[in-house]
Amino acid sequence: MHPTIKREVLMSRFLSERFAEIEPYTPGEQPQDFDYIKLNTNESPYPPSPKVLEAVNAEETAKLRLYSDPEVRQLTQEIAEFYGVRPTQVFVGNGSDEVLAFSFLAFCDADHPVCFPDITYGFYKVFAQLFCLDAQQIPLQEDFSVRVEDYCDCGRMVVLANPNAPTGLSLSTDQIERILQTNPDHIVLIDEAYVDFGGESCIPLLGRYPNLIVVQTFSKSRSLAGARLGFAVASEELIEDLNKMKFSFNPYNINRLSILAGTAAMNDKAYFEQCREEILSTRSKTKAALEQLGFQVLDSKTNFLFVRHPDLSGDDYTRQLRKKSILVRHFSQTRIKNYVRITIGTPKQMETLLEATKEILAIRRQEL
Ligand code: PMP
Repeated sequence: MHPTIKREVLMSRFLSERFAEIEPYTPGEQPQDFDYIKLNTNESPYPPSPKVLEAVNAEETAKLRLYSDPEVRQLTQEIAEFYGVRPTQVFVGNGSDEVLAFSFLAFCDADHPVCFPDITYGFYKVFAQLFCLDAQQIPLQEDFSVRVEDYCDCGRMVVLANPNAPTGLSLSTDQIERILQTNPDHIVLIDEAYVDFGGESCIPLLGRYPNLIVVQTFSKSRSLAGARLGFAVASEELIEDLNKMKFSFNPYNINRLSILAGTAAMNDKAYFEQCREEILSTRSKTKAALEQLGFQVLDSKTNFLFVRHPDLSGDDYTRQLRKKSILVRHFSQTRIKNYVRITIGTPKQMETLLEATKEILAIRRQEL
């Protein structure tokens, strides 16, 4: 299925009426061959830590006949140690998507609405529809930054991706603290999927704000998108609420091999640092090179760049790159339709992207 083609509108007469109008999330294209340079879904270009490969061995695979630990103790302990919190403050989900879903389910209902920016991770809107919530989408400012005042004392659960996607821009923890202070009776959920690439984590604020939930993922900085692992860090009470959702829905949500893979990845700090530094260095070189070619590149604290060029529409650039076997992500939302989101790959992949871009621009100039 091509990324821009929505799932067909086909439904049975049995589907509950409340789901008839839902517009499901459209994931980025996931070709199952390796014929592309894949810069469209913000995965790491580097393999998981070698310790992951050691942990997920034949012996452990044989144990797949047994259920996994519903308490996910080994991985929860490792995450808690890494962040200096108690294991009872950690909840592990099947990707951070599941953690987000359980959070919307647990903390919002017809009387408890939610708000998030108009341009942000597209899944928030889908969860709001799925759980029949009143969701306010607050416009980002002209420059795509979040206006903090818009979220102060707002009478709703606040959901903010920080750094935001697909813009890559981030708020400081001081700014988020103002949102936390002015919403003591509402949850403030900070989705830190990209925080390891230069953002400031809100985890140190947890002791002071019982309304804060921080959500992170293993999909980006820990090279484990395919293992489907995400987690929340919050007060023990909020974590128990999330557990209530999980144990009422899917108690064995994390499979045996992913528990091992996640534990090994969290444990290998040196490899994590090495991959992260490599990506930050490639990001700054790629940003400079794209600017040289006339692109406007937003300041990124993530493993992607959000870019636009005056001579190329976002859609056109994406299609031209695709013809050259390079996948990037384009969004059709009006405010960002001229932009393209490019994941930071290896230095070699980025060189190929830049060469392809030069060719596309040269042809475009001949046409103008
Ligand atoms: N939050 C944000 C902001 C994201 O971009 C993504 C990745 N698409 C996710 C959450 C979900 O990541 P995962 O389910 O792979 O942990």
